[in-house]
Amino acid sequence: MSVSGLFKSTQCLKKTEFVTILSRLYVNILRMIPINEAKKIIDDNIVKTTLTEPVSLEDAFGRALAYDAKSDVDVPPFNRATMDGYAVVSSDGAGEYEVIEYVPAGVFPTKKLEKGYVTRIMTGAPVPEGADAVVQVEKTGGFVEVGEKAEIKASFKPGQNISPHGEDVKTGDTVLEAGSRITAPESATLATAGHDPVTVFKLPTVAILSTGDEVIEPSEKPVPGQIRNSNAYSLKSQAVDIGLNPDLIGVAHDTEEDLTAKIMEGAKRDFLLVSGGVSAGDRDMVPRILEKAGYKILLHKVAVKPGKPLVFGVAEGPRYVFGVPGNPVSGLVIFELFIKPAILKWMGFSNTKHFVVNAPLADGFKRKKADRVEYIPVQLEWTGEGFIAHRIKYHGSGHMHALTRANGLYKIPKGVTEVAPGHAGEVIVLKYGWR
Ligand code: AMP
Ligand code: MG
Repeated sequence: MSVSGLFKSTQCLKKTEFVTILSRLYVNILRMIPINEAKKIIDDNIVKTTLTEPVSLEDAFGRALAYDAKSDVDVPPFNRATMDGYAVVSSDGAGEYEVIEYVPAGVFPTKKLEKGYVTRIMTGAPVPEGADAVVQVEKTGGFVEVGEKAEIKASFKPGQNISPHGEDVKTGDTVLEAGSRITAPESATLATAGHDPVTVFKLPTVAILSTGDEVIEPSEKPVPGQIRNSNAYSLKSQAVDIGLNPDLIGVAHDTEEDLTAKIMEGAKRDFLLVSGGVSAGDRDMVPRILEKAGYKILLHKVAVKPGKPLVFGVAEGPRYVFGVPGNPVSGLVIFELFIKPAILKWMGFSNTKHFVVNAPLADGFKRKKADRVEYIPVQLEWTGEGFIAHRIKYHGSGHMHALTRANGLYKIPKGVTEVAPGHAGEVIVLKYGWR
């Protein structure tokens, strides 16, 4: 609409409506919000869940611990042998000594060790009173029976091959803080400290809605003008990767009725992710319908490439919506940059930060416009000394296939039109190793 047109059509509007239109014009069209400001707006509005549930320890992988977990035992619970061999009095030194007892793991020694004697002992077993070192069998003449003489070939220091009682953890120590993500070491730590079941934060409910008259399902064969729905699947994968169990609620046609119905359905969830329909096209009705569905739109243009028309809104509950542009790479990048940290925060994780490395861009990069931060897909290679980022063939935000060869996003800062070959920059790591 032209400026004079806007004035003509506003003459019959009330003052409040006029102000609303102007503020929307400002938020939606005029202002590109810098990334950090956008992140702050999202962060300020995401309220961490307080809802928790007990789960069995074996099912707790990937969840956020909801309490500070303390240990009910000392770890190790006794002075523990870390080698198979003989428990000795270290001041005895090398020599031949009679074996007074055999202590395998799981058995508690019954005999105090005096100078001039040894106890045959296995890894994990409690060291007998009086012993102050364990000499590994490789440094002896080998195992002999109780009553026989063992040959100790080396001298050893007090404390050698003994993990002292309570060295790792003392009873009552906090071994894991609330907000920890439960992976292998955390599961093991909780097990050792006596926690099963464990109380974790509840997961949010998440719906993923695709939009567009041209969008069909992957199992269908496109006719000219149609495109297969890929965004629902990339967004679902990214959500599953952080432990969520999102529902795909279909593809909405670009009509008021269908969008309204499907958005109302998705709005029942804690998070609604909508792909497509958020740009400036005449069929891009999503933000308006989100408002109609009760969301207050707090973001609609972010100075990032790809993904500028990112929408973020909050409704009563609070419930949240993110709208990402239909271009497949935009959705993926926006999820990584903005949606993932937001949902991780809601889920109760204390660490929501990206894994970032500093790596030189092997091939350099040029662009004409530098009004946005840009993320370009790269393949990080470990050279043996450090990472190097190689650009991959990438035609722009529709080129999702390129991302199958990428494991990082190299950041081109705002204001930078040229990156010289070998110039080091920030790379968000997307996947690594076999992933
Ligand atoms: P939009 O943001 O709705 O204007 O869509 C931008 C571009 O993304 C168009 O070329 C769409 O065809 C494409 N697109 C939209 N939705 C999807 C989807 N779910 N999967 C793949 N491409 C899509
Ligand atoms: Mg569309």
